[in-house]
Amino acid sequence: MKTSFPLLFVSHGAPMFAIEPGLAGQNLAELGRELPRPDAIVVVSPHWMTRDEISVTASTAPETIHDFGGFPEALYQIQYPAPGEPALAARLVEMLSDDGWKSRLDADRGLDHGAWVPLLYLAPEADIPVVQVSMPASLDPRNALQLGQSLKPLRDMNILIVTSGSLTHNLYEFSGTTSHGAQYVKDFAAWTAKSLASGNLDQLLDYKQYAPSAERAHPTDEHFLPLFIALGAAGDSYETRVVEGGVTHGVLAMDSYLFSSNGNDRSESVQSARGGN
Ligand code: ZN
Repeated sequence: MKTSFPLLFVSHGAPMFAIEPGLAGQNLAELGRELPRPDAIVVVSPHWMTRDEISVTASTAPETIHDFGGFPEALYQIQYPAPGEPALAARLVEMLSDDGWKSRLDADRGLDHGAWVPLLYLAPEADIPVVQVSMPASLDPRNALQLGQSLKPLRDMNILIVTSGSLTHNLYEFSGTTSHGAQYVKDFAAWTAKSLASGNLDQLLDYKQYAPSAERAHPTDEHFLPLFIALGAAGDSYETRVVEGGVTHGVLAMDSYLFSSNGNDRSESVQSARGGN
């Protein structure tokens, strides 16, 4: 049986991540070298939210959007010149429409920093076509999971899905220094790791109720929702591997998660996720 392409939830951190790789950058670069080469990358980031419908980039050369202010000039010089793939974008809109999502092509939109910053590490040559999919503003954990289910067939087309967010994201507590991570950040990250390893989807979907310091870790949930898109695209039988990233700026947990197919049923995949490296 042919296995589906693995997919990735990535913590994109602060824009400075583009020039300060740290542990997360090192580990994502290593993962990029380890993964088979995909034919294309489809990326979702909360920095592109659309109101009623899902938009899909359809440019042949999506621009690198520097959607942040007040950072060093070096950050604005960075380009990620990966080509787009209009045919894939059109196929995606078809797939999404078939699943009942209102969706459209956007020929002008480029890649935001939630998309291109992690790709600087994962696919540094920028020679793999990239298509970005917007997040509808009305998304919640359950319909984010459904959106992921709609994207899942891409994995059988040799396409890497990257859902980009942040494992924790409280910018009110953001500190410019890379001090030690706050305890609640570690607690929330540990809870998420444990819930993913045990496949406890119900608790994950209701994380606001179950996770320690959920409100503090995500005062708004747009940076955590990509994890549910990843879970939807992972399907019922997957195993997870943490791509460690530590904590930056005191409050941004930078761990990413690789989801791989597992031919077994859920209970067995839990065993192997626990027993794996
Ligand atoms: Zn962000």
